[in-house]
Amino acid sequence: MKKVAYFTVYWGDEYGKPPKTPEGKARDEALAKALLQRLEQMRKVKIVEVSTKRPFYDLKIEVGSEAFNFLMETLQQSPHLVSPFTVLKDYTCQELESAELLIWGPTNQAIEDDYYDFYAEGEQHRDLHQRCPACGARLKQIRDLIVNKARMRGKDVSLTYSNEVILSERVAQLLYEAGLTGFELRPVHHYKKPYKGEPTLYQLVVTNVLPPMASPPTEFEHFHHCDVCGRTSRFLKHTHQWGKIQYYEDTDVYYPRSVLEAAKDFNHTAEYFGELRVSHPYVIITQRVYRLLREHKVKNWAAVPVYLVD
Ligand SMILES: [Zn+2]
Repeated sequence: MKKVAYFTVYWGDEYGKPPKTPEGKARDEALAKALLQRLEQMRKVKIVEVSTKRPFYDLKIEVGSEAFNFLMETLQQSPHLVSPFTVLKDYTCQELESAELLIWGPTNQAIEDDYYDFYAEGEQHRDLHQRCPACGARLKQIRDLIVNKARMRGKDVSLTYSNEVILSERVAQLLYEAGLTGFELRPVHHYKKPYKGEPTLYQLVVTNVLPPMASPPTEFEHFHHCDVCGRTSRFLKHTHQWGKIQYYEDTDVYYPRSVLEAAKDFNHTAEYFGELRVSHPYVIITQRVYRLLREHKVKNWAAVPVYLVD
């Protein structure tokens, strides 16, 4: 796995702080530009953007490289030059193909089902879910999805704005014919009169729920709880500190190895993620699903390995 950090180095005035003195600004600019000059000569650094009009530049640097260590060390003395940076993980094929379970999800959110929850008049204005009267958490889906099917054009899978997974007919058929387990297919309707060539779409309804993750080592943050419906939601730990500099990186997900006895091909996590009103479980798939989707060149999704601990 390769980790890549995305930095913005910025030497202008800081939001919510008094403007810098001309001397202070000149000092920061000189420091930032000297840093850039050094980094330009190092390996595993990509200068993504240098602004000619505004006081910043963007960098992409491999975590653990000489350039990364140099930048982090230098910035400890001037942490105000960077805003929190983001670390993204790039998994190798070998890592993805040897993971028994993976977190899975569509990479686009093209379909605004929520529109019909909030704005549509008359017949169509029926909330998709029964919600907790106190926190608004979605407790149970009470009707089929109604979407603008044209937005699914050319896509194999997509998320609605309320995090429901929609499958094209080809993908639904693929999962069904492979005899995969842990899911049902629910019809999806077009929001207006049927149109010529209207595609058949399905909602992926995951029916199997896994036992809780192993925590630790899985780390969470920002817990919310509602006493009325009993829902607890959280986020995977995302906020970290590198000396004086804050950064964001999703924590890895771990399960006890015994989870394999409870796993089907499609699973929901026991944990709900996000703010209470929009909280939803993650989808976890087996290696079998991963390979099937790859083999059939299904597009518009991504997967991240889950780690098993004894
Ligand atoms: Zn509630």
